[in-house]
Amino acid sequence: MELAQRITGIEPSVTLAIAAMAKAMQKDGKDVCSFSTGEPDFDTPAHIKDAAKQALDRGKTKYGAAAGEPQLREAIANKLQQDNNLSYAPANILVTNGGKHSLYNLMVALINPGDEVIIPAPFWLSYPEMVKLVGGIPVIVDTDSSTDYKITPAALDAAITPKTKLFILNSPSNPSGVVYSPTELQALAQVIVDRDIMVVSDEIYEKIVYDGVEQVSIGALGKEIFERTIISNGFAKAYAMTGWRIGYLAAPIALIQAASALQGHSTSNVCTFAQYGAIAALEGSQDCVENMRQAFAQRRQVILERLRAIPGLSCAKPDGAFYIFINIGSTHLKSLEFCQQLLEQQQVAVIPGLPFGADDHIRVSYATDLTTIEKGMDRLDKFMRSCV
Ligand code: PLP
Repeated sequence: MELAQRITGIEPSVTLAIAAMAKAMQKDGKDVCSFSTGEPDFDTPAHIKDAAKQALDRGKTKYGAAAGEPQLREAIANKLQQDNNLSYAPANILVTNGGKHSLYNLMVALINPGDEVIIPAPFWLSYPEMVKLVGGIPVIVDTDSSTDYKITPAALDAAITPKTKLFILNSPSNPSGVVYSPTELQALAQVIVDRDIMVVSDEIYEKIVYDGVEQVSIGALGKEIFERTIISNGFAKAYAMTGWRIGYLAAPIALIQAASALQGHSTSNVCTFAQYGAIAALEGSQDCVENMRQAFAQRRQVILERLRAIPGLSCAKPDGAFYIFINIGSTHLKSLEFCQQLLEQQQVAVIPGLPFGADDHIRVSYATDLTTIEKGMDRLDKFMRSCV
């Protein structure tokens, strides 16, 4: 059987593979400390689950509108106005099967074969694969600790060619955890407007920020940038709803209509009763979001202190999300070798930087309990002392 060309260049997700390896070792009775997952370790808040259960009982079990339940599109439009100062009508919103699906739909609806999409590295590993799937060309712009792993306006400007269609911005970032300041966003917005390209702002970690850092949406910085902005967001990280598969796109109407038509012929609507859980998430108390954020903040404090005391490691200050992106250059190991050796020798699972575009780094997720963090850091310390 000959597979389609478009699929043969696609890499399987390494994050899922390492998490699966760690789970298999745990199943075999091994005491694995896993820092590999990209999901909150909390249960979905009860009022959200209750709303979905009630929707089931009310018969919300049928096909719905492909673009999403009208009440959810309206709740999302209200949220974007209140939280992000972005004025969208419900018609500008598409409810999707998670943030991943939002971004994929966007690529299909916007990118022609040969179009260039600018992606700062380190990047969330699915971005380049999605671009390639639709025949686009990922243009990777490397960043490093000298700019806090952020793309500068000059580097963005230099990467733009007549073929550039889209720039992918992810703040707070997976994997680096860095958050762009309003001033940095303003400077990037200027380049986007001047060079007349589009930007997709992946804001899935917007609620998980620390130390009073301000999370601003680039689209809120003026009329001209708003017209060139697409927002991708979802419920997975803020509300511990990873398995529910609900996300959304907010964008100019022509794009939403095109992506809705695509969805109408591919997945149809997101699970109808699950959407009622999402409505409850947005319209109910936000205390659950803040409680989880505080728990992440405490873990971040502990893990940063522990990491700073381990020889041979350095990282950017993670102001958001629940990841730390660590430079392991001092070990002279490739990131995959590092992760395999650490898992085999110390039963600690972390993710190699390679698929994030940085082979001298690893990603550590602290979406896990404090006991695992303490134990895992003891083991990482031992491992590093044997390497450097
Ligand atoms: N964007 C980023 C940066 C992510 O890290 C993730 C998930 O890990 C997503 C989007 C997609 O999230 P989901 O499809 O679970 O909503």
